[in-house]
Amino acid sequence: TSPLNLSNLVNRNAHFIGGAWEPSTSGAIDVINPANGEVVGRVPNGGAAQAAKAIEAAHRAQREWAARTPAQRAVFMHAWAARIRDNADHLARILTSEQGKPLSESLEEAEGVAMFIEWYAEEGKRAYGETIPALARNKRILVIPQPVGVTALITPWNYPGTMIARKGAPALAAGCTVVLKPASQTPLTAVALVALAQEAGFPAGVINLVTGKASEIGEEFMTNAQVRKVSFTGSTEVGKLLIRASAEQVKRLSLELGGNAPFIVFPDADLDAAVAAAVGNKFENCGQMCNGINVMYVHEDIAQRFSRMVAQKVASLKVGNGLEEGVQLGPVIDHRAVAFVDKLVQEAVQQGAKVEVGGSCLTATPYQKGSFYSPTVLTGVTTEMRIAQEEVFGPVAPIVTFSSEEEVLALANATPFGLAAYVFTKDVRRVFEVSEQLEFGMVGVNSASLSVPQAPFGGIKQSGQGREGGHHGLEEFMEIKYISLTL
Ligand code: ADP
Repeated sequence: TSPLNLSNLVNRNAHFIGGAWEPSTSGAIDVINPANGEVVGRVPNGGAAQAAKAIEAAHRAQREWAARTPAQRAVFMHAWAARIRDNADHLARILTSEQGKPLSESLEEAEGVAMFIEWYAEEGKRAYGETIPALARNKRILVIPQPVGVTALITPWNYPGTMIARKGAPALAAGCTVVLKPASQTPLTAVALVALAQEAGFPAGVINLVTGKASEIGEEFMTNAQVRKVSFTGSTEVGKLLIRASAEQVKRLSLELGGNAPFIVFPDADLDAAVAAAVGNKFENCGQMCNGINVMYVHEDIAQRFSRMVAQKVASLKVGNGLEEGVQLGPVIDHRAVAFVDKLVQEAVQQGAKVEVGGSCLTATPYQKGSFYSPTVLTGVTTEMRIAQEEVFGPVAPIVTFSSEEEVLALANATPFGLAAYVFTKDVRRVFEVSEQLEFGMVGVNSASLSVPQAPFGGIKQSGQGREGGHHGLEEFMEIKYISLTL
């Protein structure tokens, strides 16, 4: 396979529908590099009409795609993953240019995308059914899994590649055709991934891409009866809109929504490991990770040491344009995000929090044209402060101290969200008791990284429903059919 000239794609300004690129008839959205405000490409500003056309194309391709064996579908998926690997450098540059994260993180993301697609290419082969003992000798009970059907995928801007793979790979492996709607801030990664899928030879209509007006496209997804399932990652606010809209047709939904992840450090923890994990997770993607740490709860006996160690590491982070060598922290997604993060920080400071490092917007050269915020560590934070209650989604580590296991469990669970939590301790009893009592869909024990193809990623409470990854992620795109046989 030869590397594709992906840079030609960023200005293509076309939807991908039924196996062909359809130039925009509805204007374009400029895609901006958050590091310097430059326009890096454009995509169609499409709406309901384009979404309907893409759904129709997916619908036409559905029966044939579902009829192929999982092994046949896997051939296309492996070819896609191989092309993603061959083009990883290019893909990573596009991702960083529109999203801001350091190139090294974009390269890891490209590798993750390939891994998810490969893993599901194989897992599709294990979509087992069941036979269940019946009540009579001449009866048989069979349960067979079948693809849900045409699936719409709505993805966010923080992981523009991973989110497509985490939804698209299981959907395709299950035998569903897809219509993808990426976030308007980061549609170019989607354009590139879809172009590579086209090269991999997927049949026309199996993968379709539309970009543009989110609420119009979203409404078409929810009201078009040909769409059988919608998988969404984004804000809780939009997730709730989709739940309401799904009622009319009892549309199946998977939702990965906001989070408020606690990172709990007990006094017996390996402090070096805890500090490394805390900084690694919190400042990945400039703090814009769904399962990113929101608040660090540190036992009072070690809080001072922990805070000092974290602040020291954070102070040394190199901030800048993610395309530049050695940069560890890029910009946040836009100026609105900078303003929101700063507001929460300033409010916390007024209420008594102390800035250990950072704490301001970066506006001097070379940051003035981008949306940069200085990596920040706050101590003296209390859980009443907004910075502890809301999903910050920026490079800020608020540190709260606690004195007992019971207290910290109550504090950590006192949120309407329930995506991820992290615990650092060497006490085996505590590992189990605390993990079991934390009201979150995922718990990282002595580790703060979670997203891998084989594990079920997802949240409880207002963080969503459904799981991505593992056999659970495949089941999200399958119905089960019970067949009662009389011989
Ligand atoms: P974020 O805060 O991450 O931008 P959003 O929920 O606004 O979260 O966006 C996540 C995805 O949902 C994006 O692709 C966005 O375009 C899309 N989106 C936004 N509003 C709607 C809507 N009303 N219906 C469907 N999708 C939407």
